[in-house]
Amino acid sequence: MSETLVVNEIYLSLQGESTFAGLPCIFVRLTACDLRCSYCDTAYAFTEGKKKLLDDIHAEIQRLAAPFSNSKPETRNSKLPLIELTGGEPLLQNNSLPLMKQLCDDGFTVLIETSGAHDISQIDPRVRRIMDLKCPSSGEVARNRFENIAHLKSTDEIKFVIGSVEDYEWAKQQIAVHQLDAICPLLISWVHPLTPEQRNKALKLVPLGQTPITRKDLVERIIADALPVRFQAQLHKIIWPPEQRGV
Ligand code: SF4
Repeated sequence: MSETLVVNEIYLSLQGESTFAGLPCIFVRLTACDLRCSYCDTAYAFTEGKKKLLDDIHAEIQRLAAPFSNSKPETRNSKLPLIELTGGEPLLQNNSLPLMKQLCDDGFTVLIETSGAHDISQIDPRVRRIMDLKCPSSGEVARNRFENIAHLKSTDEIKFVIGSVEDYEWAKQQIAVHQLDAICPLLISWVHPLTPEQRNKALKLVPLGQTPITRKDLVERIIADALPVRFQAQLHKIIWPPEQRGV
């Protein structure tokens, strides 16, 4: 493959989110994003990156995965490590599609983290798509591409990142209106406050009228409302300093 992708980083770590949390995972972080969510903790991927041949990216993944070659699959029959394309926004680069296809052909369980602002229908159906629905406090709620919901399968996951009471009420409403729990697992994350180093001037401001919510308040509301979601604590931010890269 002579095609290229602009890559921010490739590393082996622990999957900190999704229903696959806790498993070893190779992350391929692609450069660029066309959103500027108020809470974004990977703003360094907006511009930093190097153009790499797909063959070289594939070889790097194979090298990082090699020590696992004799390990047994986990319960969902997933060969380890998992591979996740993330960003930035991986779907801004068309060559992410052939890379994901090749990794699926290799037998890997492939995940993609996408903002939900772009068409997900062209992604290889074997890929597990973890799609955000951007809540109001992100400043990017207008970018949700609701047509994507019709393309979601039971192997995909929908994520809400919640930083305010208004976000929580919005997420609850979307779940009810679109009957999202009948489609796939639903994930709820709490907006982790950014460190001064993570704060990027380009990020959107939290819109006026948002009432901050604590992690405890969020979890207690989920339980009180019997919301059919999985709360996720972002394991990597518990294990390593929240601003640490490459984990
Ligand atoms: S979609 Fe939002 S959170 Fe994700 S990389 Fe882009 S700006 Fe950051």
